[in-house]
Amino acid sequence: MPSREFELIDRHFTRRGAARGDLLLGVGDDAALVAPPAGAELVLALDTIVEHSHFPAGMDARFVGHRVLAVNLSDLAAMGAEPAWALLGLTLPSVDEHWLAGFSSGLDALARRTGVALAGGDTTRGPLTATIALAGTVPSGQALRRDGAEPGDDLWISGTPGDAAAGLAILQGRLPGQGRARDALLHRFQLPEARVVLGVALRGIATACIDVSDGLAGDLAKLCVASRVGADIDSRELPLSAGLCSVAGPEARLRFALGGGDDYELLFTAPVAERARLAALEAGAVLRRIGVVSEDAGVRIDGAPPEREAGHGFDHFAD
Ligand code: ADP
Ligand code: MG
Repeated sequence: MPSREFELIDRHFTRRGAARGDLLLGVGDDAALVAPPAGAELVLALDTIVEHSHFPAGMDARFVGHRVLAVNLSDLAAMGAEPAWALLGLTLPSVDEHWLAGFSSGLDALARRTGVALAGGDTTRGPLTATIALAGTVPSGQALRRDGAEPGDDLWISGTPGDAAAGLAILQGRLPGQGRARDALLHRFQLPEARVVLGVALRGIATACIDVSDGLAGDLAKLCVASRVGADIDSRELPLSAGLCSVAGPEARLRFALGGGDDYELLFTAPVAERARLAALEAGAVLRRIGVVSEDAGVRIDGAPPEREAGHGFDHFAD
């Protein structure tokens, strides 16, 4: 390894994230050593973000560092796991110290807040790409999966879906937006908050769970296929933020909420008997019951398939 590269890693990627006693050996050796707790299963996820495809060119490096961890935290949250150790793969077109400092500070802040230690990684040259492999733990047998939904279960969503996609549309000049609404929506796109605390709280309550990264309706369809069920959403129950309602008309709001990506909210199913427990749950996110699970395959919005309901805008928002 060239000494320049060593210095770069030493400066930006050593002792990043939370200090964890179960990280026995971190950045600096050939590989990291961790000591998973007894009685736990390891939960592993990896997500890559590529400039232009997953975030706009020129996005603030702090937001890029935050995002690459947040998207992985969201996958672990959807499993009901507690995140613990991360490996970072970073591909850079050139060494830009200012960019690296921003990137590592965005990553470090979120990692500390969520108890994640940066255990190692790899640094290469090429088109700007960041990958995190995140490992966490869940007590044996308690992970939330996609395949447990039963007909008759309630369908729940956390937070206010559609905000992040509206924020991106504002950034790209496809949607007008001003003042507080604009700031709130941009924030939801730039600093997505994975529902880690909620995911853990849903163990033993949710029958199936998925995180919403590609749009609520599309991700619900994945959960339904895995569980061999269908679902009916009542669009009047969708929790829409004040910001979204102020920048988008009644139809566009629904398109953002149902088809917009990058929400990183949790979409889950639970038995009717859990309503009171879920209503009382304090896990950092507002929860809303938006529909029911049925035996009939497919996802319906107010009784109709989402394509028809949302018009051709749907595909447009679904990537
Ligand atoms: P090797 O050639 O042995 O793979 P590397 O130069 O790839 O060595 O990495 C040296 C050390 O620095 C390793 O502990 C590795 O985990 C860590 N490392 C390299 N790049 C990063 C990065 N982007 N983030 C965190 N740790 C990194
Ligand atoms: Mg290496």
